[in-house]
Amino acid sequence: MLKKVLIANRGEIALRVLRACREMGIATVAVHSEADKDSLHVKLADESVCIGPAPSPQSYLHIPSIIAAAEVTGADAIHPGYGFLAENANFAEQVENSGFVFIGPRADTIRLMGDKVSAKKAMIEAGVPCVPGSDGALPGDPSEILKTADKVGFPVIIKASGGGGGRGMRVVEKKEDLLKAVEMTRAEAEAAFGNPMVYMERFLQRPRHVEIQVLADEHGNAIYLGERDCSMQRRHQKIIEEAPAPFITPAQRKKIGEACVAACKRIGYRGAGTFEFLYEDGEFFFIEMNTRVQVEHPVTELITGVDIVQEQLRVAAGLPLQYTQKDIVIEGHAFECRINAEDPYTFIPSPGVIESCHLPGGFGIRVDSHIYQGYRIPPNYDSLIGKICVHGKDRAQAMAKMRVAMAELTVDGIKTNAPLHRELFNDTGFAQGGVSIHYLEHWLEERKARMRSEK
Ligand code: ADP
Repeated sequence: MLKKVLIANRGEIALRVLRACREMGIATVAVHSEADKDSLHVKLADESVCIGPAPSPQSYLHIPSIIAAAEVTGADAIHPGYGFLAENANFAEQVENSGFVFIGPRADTIRLMGDKVSAKKAMIEAGVPCVPGSDGALPGDPSEILKTADKVGFPVIIKASGGGGGRGMRVVEKKEDLLKAVEMTRAEAEAAFGNPMVYMERFLQRPRHVEIQVLADEHGNAIYLGERDCSMQRRHQKIIEEAPAPFITPAQRKKIGEACVAACKRIGYRGAGTFEFLYEDGEFFFIEMNTRVQVEHPVTELITGVDIVQEQLRVAAGLPLQYTQKDIVIEGHAFECRINAEDPYTFIPSPGVIESCHLPGGFGIRVDSHIYQGYRIPPNYDSLIGKICVHGKDRAQAMAKMRVAMAELTVDGIKTNAPLHRELFNDTGFAQGGVSIHYLEHWLEERKARMRSEK
């Protein structure tokens, strides 16, 4: 087994990895920026190293400092968490070239799946259903682009091959706007990702976001842990996730899960990963793979009982998965609410000192958070300050638990989006389940209009 793991991240995920390590008797090294010296994961880690000033390019994204920290502390592996360097193939490569274990897939797998055109090609070859679209990257020839769009059918979406985080995408409704849109997306992609390659997909009108969690080891084993529904999004950012996804039948789950497992085997996948799909009219369409642990992994842990981070650690140590597919049984229903330090109406970030807080608890409630009374949320990073998860025997009970948990939650001194979650867990549309990825944006528009008219 691994002896000492350096956690190259911050916030709740650093704490999540730390707890998994401790439970397995693995020593931990926290790295942190100057702004994070009072972070909970720093306090709880066996050792900690300050790796630079607050701006992440000089700390959490600064590869030489992280590798140096692993060297001076004698760590044998590095867990990247999510975000920051988690999907940076060069980082994975440098970690391994420096003699440490990278807790994640091989660098070449990250590279393959990080480029959306090559990822899609690999998935088509593996038999995973994809959104109909251009055959790889769009060519330079305008007449070819127009021809492709006619074949795909309007509206289309132009997407950057190197894109991520909801950026580098443009929807085109009409033929007249197409060439201009391709040109603009190319220029943006070049500026933002250093890669002007773009591709085209049919723009699905009211899909749901349904994703499959997988685990694979170096011994040729791969399994799927069912799916999550992450359709409740604002600006392509997930806010509420749940598992299983409403109205997905066991037969559908098995079919898409097995396709993902076959793809894992084909690309030699290692560790935890997620295949993201858009789901519309009973069909799954692959959009991208995340080659890391995801924010929303706890809902899958709650319904399967599998500790995904511990499996990552075992796989990284070269051990086989502890589970085979038949061990994976889905029980009950789970939700996750992402708690962000932001205004619940304007979504403007709200960093600052937490004067007091009460985190909910009780049967079936799980809280992953690094906040505490007196903690100062730095303005430099993501606004996620914690995740409240619930597990009930069915969806209705899980919703009831979330209402109780949300009613209990108090965070004073800063603003959070908890009021938004309280409203959403009392919304009849959301309660029915299976809403599309546009539901929340429409709901927010309606709320705004309602509040305006009440004024
Ligand atoms: P990113 O890597 O930036 O997150 P994705 O490819 O995962 O990009 O897409 C992000 C979001 O954009 C999806 O969750 C969905 O809301 C929307 N989207 C992407 N492709 C399509 C499509 N073909 N049709 C409709 N919506 C899409």
